[in-house]
This record gives sequence, structure tokens and C-alpha cells, in this order.
Amino acid sequence: MNSAGKAQPTSGPMIIIAAPSGAGKSSFVERICREMPVLVDTVTYTTRAMRAGESEGQPYHFVTREDFERKISEGFFVEWAHVHTNMYGTPLHQLVDAWRDGKVIIMDVDVQGAATFKAKYPSAVSIFILPPSIEELRRRVTKRDGGAPRDLDVRMKNAEREIALAPGFDHRIINDEFESSYSRFKKLVESIIQGG
Ligand code: 5GP
Repeated sequence: MNSAGKAQPTSGPMIIIAAPSGAGKSSFVERICREMPVLVDTVTYTTRAMRAGESEGQPYHFVTREDFERKISEGFFVEWAHVHTNMYGTPLHQLVDAWRDGKVIIMDVDVQGAATFKAKYPSAVSIFILPPSIEELRRRVTKRDGGAPRDLDVRMKNAEREIALAPGFDHRIINDEFESSYSRFKKLVESIIQGG
């Protein structure tokens, strides 16, 4: 980039969203990105198998474990973690590109990712989405996956561990009824962006 070009910020606005799998986090993030064009969702990388209805780039870049490990050694990821039995990682270039374009990044990550991003970017604001109860979470995951997934008990144990970390987040939203919870979530994101 020459001196006439735009300076490339190394850091910018970021909102971190975490929740146990099935709490409704992806629906919140997908919808708010459609409704607020200033927000950019990252397309992270994973070693997990595609689910029905998913494709390359939606919602992840699907790679082999070998590719993923090579990318780690090349310093491609600003953050990566083992989640359940797979690996997930966020490429640094997506953050740099979004900030260069004046966007606000909204990250959908697990609790380890949330902690890493908070440590690397202390001005990031974190939100934890809670299910109304573990029983309701179990019911939603079973419905979403078209039956109880083989690792349902592991996921529910992980969910309890993750929920125990909710008090450490800047904000918490309980997703009991989607429309009203989403509307509280959107108001919160708007106030974060306005610096309130
Ligand atoms: P799923 O496989 O159900 O789509 O996602 C499992 C978990 O991985 C979710 O909590 C999701 O937010 C998290 N996740 C997705 N991408 C990343 C990432 O790049 N880093 C981390 N730490 N977690 C991620």
C-alpha cells in the first residue's frame, strides 16, 4: 500500500458472541448481519464434517485436519481451539479486511475463543446467549439434528461448563422466545456500536 492508500488498522470494533451449541446463537448472528450491514460475520475454518444443508463457505470453510494443522504452523489463525471433537479457527486476514473496510466484526465462537479474543483485543465486547434451561437446550439440539446426536450427553456436559462461564461476559441474553430475545439482542448490539 502506498502513502495515498488507506491506513490499515491493526485493531477495530469487535463483538464476541458465545453460547452453548443449540442456544440460538447462529440464528441471532445471521439475522443481525442481514439487518445491520455495518456488521461482518467471519467465516471460520473447521475440521468437522458438513451437516445437511451446509456447503463450502456456509457456514464454515471445511478443511482436513492436515490442512488445519498446516495453517496453524503457518500462523494463519489469529485464534483456534478444539471444540467438542473438532478444530475451529479464525483467520487473521478476515479481521484486518473488515476493519480496513470500516466494519464491526461479530464473532460466533466457543468460550475458549471468546477468552482468547478478549485477551488479544481488550476493547472487544462479549455477549453470552443462554438457553432458558439445559432441558430446553437438549430438546432444541435433538430437534435441530433430526434426532439425538451420538454426542448429546457430551454436548450437554460441555453446555453446563460453558454456562458456568456466562458471568464473566460483558452481557448476557436469555433466548427463551426467539423474537423478543432477538429484539433485546439487537438493541444491545446497537447500543454497543453507538458506544453506549
Ligand atoms: P458447530 O460445529 O455446532 O457449528 O460449532 C461448534 C462451536 O464452535 C460453536 O460454539 C461455534 O461458535 C464454535 N466456533 C466456530 N468457529 C470458531 C472459531 O473460529 N474459533 C472458536 N474458538 N470457536 C469457533
